[in-house]
Amino acid sequence: MAPVAAPAKVLVTGANGFIAVWVVRRLLEAGYTVRGTVRSADKGTHLRELFKSYGDKLELVVVPDITAEGAFDEAVKGIDLVEHTASPFTYKADTPDGENILSVATPGICSCGIVFADLIVPAVKGTVRILESIKKNASDIPCERSPSVKRVVLTASVASVVNPFLPGPVCTYDESCWNDPTVEFVEKNPKDSPSPLWYLASKTLGEKAAWDFMEKNKSAINFDLVVLNPPYVYGPTLHEVNSPTKLNQSLLEVYEFVIKSKDTQPIPDGANAYVDVRDLADAHVLSAQKAEAGGNRIIVSGGSYHWQDILDIAAASKIVDDDKLVKGTPGSGAGKGKNLTFKTDRSDKLLGLKWTSLEDSIKDSLASFKEKNFI
Ligand code: NDP
Repeated sequence: MAPVAAPAKVLVTGANGFIAVWVVRRLLEAGYTVRGTVRSADKGTHLRELFKSYGDKLELVVVPDITAEGAFDEAVKGIDLVEHTASPFTYKADTPDGENILSVATPGICSCGIVFADLIVPAVKGTVRILESIKKNASDIPCERSPSVKRVVLTASVASVVNPFLPGPVCTYDESCWNDPTVEFVEKNPKDSPSPLWYLASKTLGEKAAWDFMEKNKSAINFDLVVLNPPYVYGPTLHEVNSPTKLNQSLLEVYEFVIKSKDTQPIPDGANAYVDVRDLADAHVLSAQKAEAGGNRIIVSGGSYHWQDILDIAAASKIVDDDKLVKGTPGSGAGKGKNLTFKTDRSDKLLGLKWTSLEDSIKDSLASFKEKNFI
């Protein structure tokens, strides 16, 4: 497919989220016109204020339920490119009976035969709905096919790449890896699967649903798909968040592991990986602009770390008063991040990004917490 260059019109779903607001900003800065979807009108208020200097280059529409049939039928009209970010990311999904395990909804949407309401349904159905609406919009009016959507960029995750059951010490992942083991595990052990596993399964099934749709409909559609697979995303916040408990999952973890509070949690011992939100937003724009990105899943990772590395960065940064910081065992994370690595050759080749350092990403996350008086 041809690249989608500015001033094309871009639909960003879940436009009020942590990552999406940065995507909207980068798109507007690059000269695109943006239509963002939000779940209710009030969720657009902050966005309108934030981007008021762009005037009518930003339009917001309400899509109350991304899982409903035809949810995006109106929203995709006149759109050249879709950036689909809307999907739940939480490790605290509750069930109606109060257990921290998700409830079973209607079976039949995913290949595992089990659908879980809070995470899997929106991840899978939301993705399928947007693709269906694009296809419908193009095929309803055959003579008007050319101005319709040419590319979809899906905000996926390395959650669909990693195998969390693999023993250490050193795992290197690339785009050929799929997290099928988690899907099989939650299917077999629904009551014994903690919510992080449900999140991993939701992202795996959501991404698979997108590729399946593309394969099954290839003769009937004239757009292609780029999937971005980021690990944990850190960096400064632009989205509306009024208390630490309302932070998106990745920044919530930074807060709960690094800042001393009643909610402080012990740091995990395993290795992790990160990408800065500004780099990820750039990746969303470049995915539109690079013709050869089409048809690829692309890992976008700035590097690996151990949580102790983040505690050490926070302590050295002096952004937060010393007595408010968790210290752990300074220096003990050295080298442990290498236990989990992601190959970024494809991203290097197709997108050519330079990665913001973990140090800068964490420092800017902490600066945002401070700015918002969360510390
Ligand atoms: P946020 O929680 O900040 O934003 C999520 C967005 O998705 C919001 O607009 C939210 O709308 C919308 N959303 C959540 N649940 C639903 C639902 N059931 N129906 C409709 N919309 C929904 O998260 P992030 O910005 O961090 O994440 C955005 C995307 O990036 C997600 O797909 C996530 O899986 C992916 N990702 C995030 C990573 C991270 O570390 N942050 C890492 C890898 C991938 P509302 O505000 O109305 O709830």
